[in-house]
Amino acid sequence: MVTRKSPAEIELMATAGRVLAAVHELLAGVAQPGVTTGELDRIAELQILRCGALPSFKGYRGYPATLNTSINDQIVHAIPSDDVTLRTGDVLSIDGGVLLDGYHADSAWTTIVGGRHCVPDAVADLVDDTREAMWRGITALVVGNRLGDVSAAIGEVGSARGYGVIAEHDGHVLGGHGIGRRLHEDPFILNCGRPGRGMRLKPGLVFAIEPMFTLGAPAWRTMQDGWTTETLDGQIAAHWEHTVAVTEDGPVVLTARADEAERSAALLAG
Ligand code: MG
Ligand code: MG
Repeated sequence: MVTRKSPAEIELMATAGRVLAAVHELLAGVAQPGVTTGELDRIAELQILRCGALPSFKGYRGYPATLNTSINDQIVHAIPSDDVTLRTGDVLSIDGGVLLDGYHADSAWTTIVGGRHCVPDAVADLVDDTREAMWRGITALVVGNRLGDVSAAIGEVGSARGYGVIAEHDGHVLGGHGIGRRLHEDPFILNCGRPGRGMRLKPGLVFAIEPMFTLGAPAWRTMQDGWTTETLDGQIAAHWEHTVAVTEDGPVVLTARADEAERSAALLAG
């Protein structure tokens, strides 16, 4: 069931989103070579709890941690561990969720440990282009558009640049989703598709927009832990995500970080 949120509900989600943005900003300063993903997870959890919020992921279908920390050929949902130490040149995707006052926010970003000069240009470009695809999808979240316009906007960036666009494989799907009182609500949003199709966008709809692209084929498997997804061909993947509300004034990014304020403000109609 698709639910539309009132302005007051969207404001609650924005508060959860600000808590989550601050967590990611904190982690950006910590995700350095030598740090374990288990440490990142503890820092994130503590920060969320300090704000009087709860980590959305912990306990979700039995998930054991606050973050997903997916490295290199891992696409999404990798479980943080004290046994996983970040190394220079790792492509690290950090996904987190915050539950505050009954509403969730969900966002992810990808960083290159040690800095972009530590990897070939093609890898740094993958990270940048996946982020750009997220913004194109967000930009399409306009009243009157259809969901297919959002999927197409995301997927076109990936196809045009020759990436594997993670969407459907072997009977499984990965993509964006509605969000609100539940972390995952209808509708599901494929990261590719045809414009002009699907449900029409209305004010009050809130979505998590989350492209995943890879340098190789868009095929994956789930690891024995039941969570981690990794590319079948071992190629590197990137993942970016924001929680965004559709409003009469344009898309409102509820999880924008400080360095994204300008871009997200530009989405709103003057
Ligand atoms: Mg997420
Ligand atoms: Mg999500």
